[in-house]
Amino acid sequence: GPHPATKKFRMPGYCVEYAASNRSTCKGCKTKIDKGELRLGTITPGPGDYDMTAWRHLMCQKHPKGMQDPNELSGLGALRPEDQKKVEEWLVSGGGGKKRSSDDLDSLANMDTKKMKVKEMDAKIKESGIQTGKSKKEKQEALDEVAERAAVEAKYSKLSVPQLKELLALNKQLKGGIKQELVDRCVDGKMYGALPRCPECGGGLLRVVYTQKYGHGGQGTFSCPGFFDDDVFKRCPHTSNTADRLPWHES
Ligand SMILES: [Zn+2]
Ligand SMILES: [Zn+2]
Repeated sequence: GPHPATKKFRMPGYCVEYAASNRSTCKGCKTKIDKGELRLGTITPGPGDYDMTAWRHLMCQKHPKGMQDPNELSGLGALRPEDQKKVEEWLVSGGGGKKRSSDDLDSLANMDTKKMKVKEMDAKIKESGIQTGKSKKEKQEALDEVAERAAVEAKYSKLSVPQLKELLALNKQLKGGIKQELVDRCVDGKMYGALPRCPECGGGLLRVVYTQKYGHGGQGTFSCPGFFDDDVFKRCPHTSNTADRLPWHES
């Protein structure tokens, strides 16, 4: 093959479509993308001759750098007119995936669901895009989780990247990614416990996919990414629907 240095660099391409199955996971919020849901793909050249596509919900995708014209998104013309409009609005508004402002987080964190009327709760539930049961108690519990998560996110957002990495290292979690990814990983660990090593091979750190953002209690579909053993990559087929999350340490 060509020498890596001479390999042509290509700009990533973008496409948009309705998810053909429910097997893709959003790289932004790490939850499943439902079949038929609008998803945006970032296409980059893979290690071989094929391309790799990273999928995100539209609202989890940042504005692609340098994109002015929605027609640079392949597949746009095939969407229903109302969805084409949604994509155009997303582009004009500067894209989703922005970190929530600290004011937004503080106002969520300070919600007092015991003092809220059902109507107010319904508005917050709609705003947060969560699903809840019909009873007042179920709505209250769901919003309490939103408030708790917002408080934790507000706290960790104030840390620097080195501080976040130190916290992740302390809990033996992955340390790669941009700041928002580090914050999200710390929030997940604080809320539900650190991810454990694979019970089957003992080498890989389990990864998890939740079916929804709230109400999962830290359980979802766990899988093992495998691990390197003396420079040799060991695959591992382990998957499970539960895992023992480990205590999260702050210091
Ligand atoms: Zn998402
Ligand atoms: Zn494993």
